[in-house]
Amino acid sequence: MIDLRIRVEPLPIVDPLIVRLRNDADDLGPNDAVLIGTDGARREYDFQGFSLTLHTKDDVALDNDVIMVLPGQTSARRLIRADSQHNTFLITEQCDQLCLMCSQPPKKNHVDLFAELETAASLAPANAYIGLSGGEPLLHKDKLFDMLLWLSKARPDLIFHILSNAQHFDEVDIAKLQEIGVERILWGIPLYAANAQLHDAIVKKAGAYDRLLQSFAILFEAGAAIELRTVVMQQNYWELPALAGFVGTTLSFVERWAIMQLENIGFGRMNWDLSFKDTSLDFGNVARAINIASAGDVPVQLYNFPLCSVPAHYRHLAAASISDWKNRQEPFCIDCSARQRCGGFFEWYDHRKGFRGLGPI
Ligand code: SF4
Repeated sequence: MIDLRIRVEPLPIVDPLIVRLRNDADDLGPNDAVLIGTDGARREYDFQGFSLTLHTKDDVALDNDVIMVLPGQTSARRLIRADSQHNTFLITEQCDQLCLMCSQPPKKNHVDLFAELETAASLAPANAYIGLSGGEPLLHKDKLFDMLLWLSKARPDLIFHILSNAQHFDEVDIAKLQEIGVERILWGIPLYAANAQLHDAIVKKAGAYDRLLQSFAILFEAGAAIELRTVVMQQNYWELPALAGFVGTTLSFVERWAIMQLENIGFGRMNWDLSFKDTSLDFGNVARAINIASAGDVPVQLYNFPLCSVPAHYRHLAAASISDWKNRQEPFCIDCSARQRCGGFFEWYDHRKGFRGLGPI
């Protein structure tokens, strides 16, 4: 697994510090630190005349990475890995839903790092693609929109993917979304059933489904781009064809519909036995859902499905969706001809409780 933290020798700081690590001293900005020496795992940088010392493996490339050092902490967060398109900022750990499959169970407190994240994004490589997630980022909608608006002017090349439960969009947001630039954001929004009772039960919030439909109407009016996301579980498996019909008729404006497998972490792990649907043994309703949505001209993709868990006819829809830093393969993958194309598994996937119908192809 790629390490998203780097050991750092403590700094006498009182506020979080955003630093871009540079191997050369050309065009230095106020947040740039320049590499002045390495000694095994130890790398020393000059940051505005002060020494910044990191410890990491020899083979880890850090040039143009952006890190955040927090006061009193001996590990820095690697916010931007310059050679990756899988950089995600955690906006908040607060959320107003308690979804059965949540990979990042909510916490009560919010640590406001908008100013730091804004700076970090402004230092990203050209045309970077940055994910924003939570918790629910729109619980801090005004600050989030202010950050995106500022970045849309300072860094119009950046593109964002924002995961949101879409419980907090209002009519008045339309103008702000358009000012930020609807082409700059893909909203990843979950819908688990075309059935208010079932959707609300899965997200554990009464009224969530109706509020979600209001938000879809607002986003449609704004011209926003939506990636609709549905995690397949035992709870909604039988509803998938009905959901596909609803998507094809009512939500056909979405950019794509991502049908997703469960991630074995957080509430997803806690509820695994009751929720995991082994689609390597029974793909029937996923196939029906794909066929129905495709007939309605809705592009479908499969996320988090190992390639060999998908019938050959649908394999072209399986994206390598698991971020590079948390992706791995199983020992049996070594003999597989599809290794390079396959999205593999989450780092924390437990094959003893996982897919029973896998094998090299
Ligand atoms: S055997 Fe491994 S690499 Fe091959 S398709 Fe299955 S999960 Fe992917």
